[in-house]
Formats: sequence, structure tokens, C-alpha cells
Amino acid sequence: MLASNHASSYYRATATPYEPHAPLQGRQAARVAIVGGGYAGLNTALGLAERGVRDVVLLEREQIGFGASGRNGGFVFAGYSLGEQSLLDQLGEARAQALFGHTTAAVQRIRERVAKYAIACDAVDQGVIWANWFRDPAVLRRRQQLLARHYGVDWQWLPQDELRGLVRSERYHDALYERDALHLHPLNYAIGLATAAATQGVRVHEHSGVRGLAREGTQWRLRTDQGELLADQVVLACGGYLAGLRRSIDRAILPIATYVMVTEPLRERMDACLHTQAAIYDSRFAFDYYRPLPDTRLLWGGRISIRNRSPRAVQRLLSSDLLRVFPQLQGIKIDYAWSGLMSYARHQMPQIGGSGDGLWWAQAFGGHGLAPTCAAGELLAAAIAEGDDGWKQFADYGLSPTHRPLGYLGAQASYWWQQGHDWLKTRLEG
Ligand SMILES: Cc1cc2nc3c(=O)[nH]c(=O)nc-3n(C[C@H](O)[C@H](O)[C@H](O)COP(=O)(O)OP(=O)(O)OC[C@H]3O[C@@H](n4cnc5c(N)ncnc54)[C@H](O)[C@@H]3O)c2cc1C
Repeated sequence: MLASNHASSYYRATATPYEPHAPLQGRQAARVAIVGGGYAGLNTALGLAERGVRDVVLLEREQIGFGASGRNGGFVFAGYSLGEQSLLDQLGEARAQALFGHTTAAVQRIRERVAKYAIACDAVDQGVIWANWFRDPAVLRRRQQLLARHYGVDWQWLPQDELRGLVRSERYHDALYERDALHLHPLNYAIGLATAAATQGVRVHEHSGVRGLAREGTQWRLRTDQGELLADQVVLACGGYLAGLRRSIDRAILPIATYVMVTEPLRERMDACLHTQAAIYDSRFAFDYYRPLPDTRLLWGGRISIRNRSPRAVQRLLSSDLLRVFPQLQGIKIDYAWSGLMSYARHQMPQIGGSGDGLWWAQAFGGHGLAPTCAAGELLAAAIAEGDDGWKQFADYGLSPTHRPLGYLGAQASYWWQQGHDWLKTRLEG
């Protein structure tokens, strides 16, 4: 039976049980209030706790990991939604390297935290394969050289015969292998971060949507359905699920939907498609991404759109994508399908900043959020706890408006244009 909503997504169905965090009640005070229980909020909370700031309250409208953080593909790798070449063009080598370096450090920090806090999130530290959909190897060669020359990162070349030994698909030509990457159960990782933060004194409250935010003297007053919180500093970390608290912060985001499904356990049929534990995505703009799960299921994701789709529609779309790559899986059942919202800025970089009066934000991580949210949490925690100004490295990537709803049309048109470009290239290559 196809799961019909997020509550019964594969991740929810296999979530680590935990004592629910009670809603905020009555009048309370804290040094720091964090709004949003996704990775951006959780990493900031944990970063603060690790720096000895205990007086922190995290408020989540639904449950921990309700948003993108509990629904995503689970790929943990360095970099941002904005490509490495664009980062270089926009910032020059030294600054681009510094920003990229935050995400390589974050990949390592995620490994260390998963181990340190014993987060049971099925982490598979076997790298990620970037498979070439096209015959022309130039794009791969260029990226491999760029990463080595300017970022000091080594992605290994996989010729076609080697790749086919790992991924049994006629669809790909060759690939690059990013060894310093992993994949994990994203919701259990989020739940683990919340538990680690709570254990160190952070007060986590679920079902505590913040409905009002007002300046009061030198402090901020946050209002939920059942409670009020007075805080010196506030961090808004609500991603594509929009906090609805500050117009300038919400309108800097375009929420974009993307889709995931999970097959039934494939058992020995897994051998017919994958001989690797690495996660895989391809070289098109609108790429497929997939990875084997511990119980021999295949998790498959892809497509982006300006609208959420029903689980049945997601299943239909993604199944046809899957069968193009692995026709040998014809007839397999899909047990779960769902969608989630990513948050994009026009500049495709995270928006990490503060307004100087105790209000901070961390959003716009796009489809590349696992490592950058960890980096953002560190930067904001260091800013709040120690007055560190490392977050200013993101100053070029501000809260420029996305002009919804027109911005949606622009995003959808650009997606279709790129998709059309990839389709044409595939046809021309025969
Ligand atoms: C389907 C999908 C696949 C993806 N795959 C990958 C991947 O493989 N690798 C990767 O690196 N990235 C991936 N991403 C991107 C990544 O998941 C996101 O960038 C990241 O999770 C963003 O975290 P966040 O904390 O900013 O937002 P979210 O996780 O969306 O969290 C925001 C939270 O804020 C809460 N909230 C909103 N308003 C309020 C309010 N007023 N009061 C209280 N709480 C509020 C929401 O309920 C939500 O829980 C994917 C995203 C999606 C949707």
C-alpha cells in the first residue's frame, strides 16, 4: 500500500522512538530562542550547547524534522546549491575556498557528532558517485580539475566498465567518485541532534508554532498558541516552510518542492542494479538521486516543481525515471512516496546573517543542505556565544527578494529550459 502522507513516509515509519518534546507553555525566558526544528535550527542549538550556552529554547511548529530535514535524500557532501565554478567567479579563489571549506569541515563534523552522540541514523560512509548521463566526458573532466585545482578536493575518475561493475545500468557512461561523503537516515539524524541538544540543556518544544515576534525593549517576545517566550536573541530557521514572522526574511525564499519514493525490499533483486553502498546521482540539471537502504529497499528521488504532488503522482513520475535507469526492476512495488519543500534564494546560496539587534536567520539551503546547515549552525552559535564574525563571509548572499508569485514562474521556466536542454543533448548523442 502506498503511504499517503509524510506521517507515514519511510523515514517516519522507521523513526527512532523518543519521548515527545512538550509544547511551550506559560511565560518563559531564555537567552536564545530558535524557531524551526530542522537541521538549521538544531545545529545552531547544538552548537550553542557545545559552547556552554545552556539557556536556549528551540520551538518547532510540528515535530522535529517535519520539514525538508526529515524528508530528504540523505546525501551528505560538501558544497552548496550554487556550483563551485560560480562560487569562484563570484568571490575569487580565497573567499570561495573559505566558504567551500566550511562544508568540508561540516561533513567531518557530522561524522564526529553521529559517533559522539551515538545517533542511530544508518550512516553509510561509502562516498557518493556522480554518474555521467551523457557520452561527452568533458563536463566531468572540467569539474574534476576545478575541484582539484581550486578547492584541493580529489574526486576519482570511474571509467564506464568500472562504473558498470558498481551500477548495473546502461544509462551512464562514466562517473566521478566523491569519497569524502556519506548518506544517512535524515529524520533519525534530526531526532538525534535534538536529543543531543536536549541532553545538554536546550529546551526543545514541538507543536509550538511561533505566531508572533515583537521587539520589546532590548529583547524579543515570541508568542505561540499556549505560551510566550522573552529572549535576548532569536534565530529564524524555517526553510521553505516559511516562519511568517518577518516579511523581509520570508520573501527572500522560494519554496520549491521535490520528490522521493522508496521501493519494497528488493532482496536479491538489488544485485541486479547495485554493487555498491555509495549513493548515486547523475550529471543532468534535473538529476535522479538514489541510494540503497539497509533493508534492501532502494530510495529514489528527483524532479523539482513549484507544487507539492500527491504520493500517487510522485510514484508515477519517479517510477518512470527509475525504470529508464533500471529497466530490470520492472514490476517492483513502491511502498512510500512523498514530497518536501526546499528553500531557494535567487543567488542559490544560503542566507546566514543577523540584523544587529539580536535577530538572526539561517535559510535558503536549497537541495544541498545537510553539510551547509551544519556549517551555518556553527557560524551562528560562534557569533551568539563568542561574538565571532565568521558569518559575515556570507554577507554577499543577502535577503534579496524572490518576487513570489512571479519568481515561481521564473524558477519553473528555468527548470523546464534546463530539462529541455538535457533532453536535447541526450537525443543528439543518440
Ligand atoms: C525531498 C528533498 C530531498 C533533499 N535531498 C537532500 C540531500 O540528499 N542532501 C542534502 O544535502 N540536502 C538535501 N535536501 C535539502 C535539505 O533537506 C535542506 O536544505 C535542509 O533540510 C534544510 O533545513 P532547514 O532547517 O533550513 O529547513 P527545514 O528542515 O525545512 O525546517 C524548517 C522547520 O521550521 C518549522 N517552522 C516553520 N515555521 C515555523 C514557525 N513559525 N514556528 C516554529 N517552527 C516553524 C517547520 O515546521 C520545519 O520543521 C533535500 C530536500 C528535500 C525536500
